[in-house]
Amino acid sequence: MQPRVYKTPAIVLRQRRLADADKILTLYTARLGKIEAVAKGVRKSRSRLAGHVEPLSHAVFMLAQGKTLDVVTQVETTESFAALRDDLEAMSRALYAAELVDKFTEPRAENFALYRLLLDTLRRIAAGADMDTPLRFHEMALLTHLGYTPELDACVACRSRLEPVVNFWSAGAGGVVCRDCRVAQHATRPISPNAIKLLRLLRHGRWPDVARIHVDAELALELERALGEYVRWVLERDVRSAAFIDAVRRGARAGGRRPAEPAAPREQTVQADEPSAALPID
Ligand SMILES: [Zn+2]
Repeated sequence: MQPRVYKTPAIVLRQRRLADADKILTLYTARLGKIEAVAKGVRKSRSRLAGHVEPLSHAVFMLAQGKTLDVVTQVETTESFAALRDDLEAMSRALYAAELVDKFTEPRAENFALYRLLLDTLRRIAAGADMDTPLRFHEMALLTHLGYTPELDACVACRSRLEPVVNFWSAGAGGVVCRDCRVAQHATRPISPNAIKLLRLLRHGRWPDVARIHVDAELALELERALGEYVRWVLERDVRSAAFIDAVRRGARAGGRRPAEPAAPREQTVQADEPSAALPID
């Protein structure tokens, strides 16, 4: 029986080696969400596919359905994003954007909006004037997509309206914490009124509004730290829940004994990963 062949635009999120000559590509497709596919022979020097399947390539893929993994039969590059590859600063940001999409999504969950988001983010980074704000927009859009939009209007603990002063930020608590609650909430990261304003604008998800704002270096760093902490906290939580599901599954197979529930993740654990997290913002 002939394998079913299909065609979809996709962005290469990453690739890894398979045997001597092949690679497994992780693609974010317009039609099927995230999939893995085999690119055969791409590690040979005369491969026709090789130049088209590098991470961050945007291309139209022809794929043949396989028993376990689909196989790439043809690729036509739409955008090679040379501007991203020639500049290490741009490249590192673009790879981070791709990695987040990879980590935030399950295989074969179709989501055209996420495909568009990644494509737009790569184009914005490639355009190059401000490479960080597009990443913050990307992070907030992914958080919102997963239902983890941070609280930015009221204190997460006492629900009082936030005063336009320096408040505090806690990924573990779920967003902004007022001065009165900061000790009880272990919120150690100060967050300026301007940062909160910009986070609210990012939350609205309208790029033209965000692009109009001039973000100075200090504010950019503040946002990078705050959203980065939040993203790592959400990912760690997700990874932990995935590990828990696996543990339950193994326990069920081994005779129905239910393993103990893991302790709730603490925000301190997340901060410890980042050497610079202890630096005060102001
Ligand atoms: Zn409060």
